[in-house]
Amino acid sequence: MRISNRKRILITGGAGFLGSHLCERLLAEGNDILCADNFYSGTKDNVAHLMGNPHFELMRHDVTFPLYVEVDEIYNLACPASPVHYQWDPVQTTKTSVHGAINMLGLAKRTKAKIFQASTSEVYGDPEVHPQPESYWGKVNPIGIRSCYDEGKRCAETLFFDYHRQHQVEIKVARIFNTYGPRMHPNDGRVVSNFIVQALRGEDITIYGDGSQTRSFCYVDDLIEGFVRLMASPDGVTGPINLGNPNEFTIRQLAEAVLAKVGGQSRLVCKPLPSDDPKQRQPNIEQAKAVLGWQPQVQLEEGLDKTIAYFRRFLQS
Ligand code: NAD
Ligand code: UDP
Ligand code: UDP
Repeated sequence: MRISNRKRILITGGAGFLGSHLCERLLAEGNDILCADNFYSGTKDNVAHLMGNPHFELMRHDVTFPLYVEVDEIYNLACPASPVHYQWDPVQTTKTSVHGAINMLGLAKRTKAKIFQASTSEVYGDPEVHPQPESYWGKVNPIGIRSCYDEGKRCAETLFFDYHRQHQVEIKVARIFNTYGPRMHPNDGRVVSNFIVQALRGEDITIYGDGSQTRSFCYVDDLIEGFVRLMASPDGVTGPINLGNPNEFTIRQLAEAVLAKVGGQSRLVCKPLPSDDPKQRQPNIEQAKAVLGWQPQVQLEEGLDKTIAYFRRFLQS
């Protein structure tokens, strides 16, 4: 029996960087939020400010194990996203993507919940097509150090589409491109947080390789808006759909931009490029524009200012 009319929404990985922003947004919209996280790369601190809210519930749970709850919608975000984190225990990374997808899809099937999958631009690997449209199948090494993440996410997409075709589960698959913003962990290891934290501490800024590789950086608020719009899209809109900011920068340009904003004594130093590091990445977001009426609003200059301000406060506290 339902006593409340509020939507019950499960967010796996809800104590992580993106998950915590999504919890906040969906809670503010008047939903009941169940946040499930095993705190592998996320922390309770990320959602501490939501804990007093009676419509927010935090649960320590690993998605590789079954979960029996009653929900209307599921956002499946559980998975470490930084190469440093996902390569720390690669077997667990694949298990999280694959067993996690099976369990959450089984839950969606039983409860008839809509389910969103946080897929990734990494399904395109080191892309030969640029920018990347959703129709591109990618160039992924199946046995390299990034494969646990890339192939795990690809297999999760396969499971999502098979549960959709075989069991009529309503799926929403987003392919997320590099996203940054407040609440990234200072030791997260991803490039934007690394560069900002290094600049604020006056340490060397570590460019891997010669810094000519490119990424396209999306500010977190824009991305979360895309998530919510995709979940609300009409039945039958399954994705996969790219969500990201198409403005592309070299890693050296990013380092220079961060240093110019923070100031200080940091030097740019080159470190070895990790293997299988994609050379270029830029989303084609024509589908997101057409189907969701979505495009990013916050450009790198403004997003960096907000993120730098957050880390400045965080490092002082
Ligand atoms: P994050 O590491 O901050 O968050 C991931 C969360 O999942 C963490 O709180 C972690 O503790 C939790 N988690 C990991 N394994 C789990 C498990 N087995 N059971 C339960 N919880 C588990 O990373 P993020 O940037 O917030 O990424 C969230 C999702 O978005 C991930 O699925 C990631 O692959 C995807 N994504 C993110 C980006 C990005 O640029 N931020 C890009 C592409 C895809
Ligand atoms: N599952 C879950 N919660 C549920 C329903 C299922 O965690 O509410 C898990 C369960 O571990 C199961 C998996 O999802 O193995 C896949 O479910 P499905 O119904 O597809 O398969 P089956 O139960 O037949 O293995
Ligand atoms: N990178 C870098 N210095 C760092 C961290 C990352 O030059 O301190 C590079 C990394 O090699 C990659 C790019 O920045 O080319 C983006 O790395 P990140 O780990 O943020 O994301 P991903 O490689 O998964 O896109």
